[in-house]
Amino acid sequence: MDEVLRQLPKKAKEKHSENKKFFAKLKKKTPKNLDYIMQELHEAEFKRTDCLTCANCCKTTGPLFTNADVERISKSFRMKPQKFIDTYLRIDEENDFVLQQVPCTFLGADNYCSIYDVRPKACREFPHTDRKKFQQISNLTLKNVEICPAAYTIVEEMKKLMK
Ligand code: SF4
Ligand code: SF4
Repeated sequence: MDEVLRQLPKKAKEKHSENKKFFAKLKKKTPKNLDYIMQELHEAEFKRTDCLTCANCCKTTGPLFTNADVERISKSFRMKPQKFIDTYLRIDEENDFVLQQVPCTFLGADNYCSIYDVRPKACREFPHTDRKKFQQISNLTLKNVEICPAAYTIVEEMKKLMK
């Protein structure tokens, strides 16, 4: 996995303009069964992917924390939400709560998430490749293929399927 992760930013950059064109076309002409296709591609890829050997999302980019995330996670720490915010979070340029630092504070050396059961919604949903109306998050996906090998492969498979 280390070598895959080392190569990924370069490979993704090489595919960037091809991917951008592909998503622009997809938005204009979206297959009726796109949600179904994405579900299938996502499930097949994540059957082959062991996120515990990767954790690149947790190491390189942090999730957004919604108010519900803050409430739930701080409660699990028996901490006041404001104390949790002051200890772990900051507000980014878009006015969202994000981690003060990456790799994520809650990531263990064994790549396990220490708050897995109560982790942010964004972590549960990353890399969003099984999301409905996937064509609407193309800008986010263009970024995610640079850090997530599974998302990279899913987009490659999409291009093969929808030539
Ligand atoms: S979701 Fe993607 S980046 Fe995150 S651990 Fe799994 S394969 Fe790696
Ligand atoms: S909260 Fe857990 S799943 Fe989310 S980035 Fe941190 S370690 Fe990863």
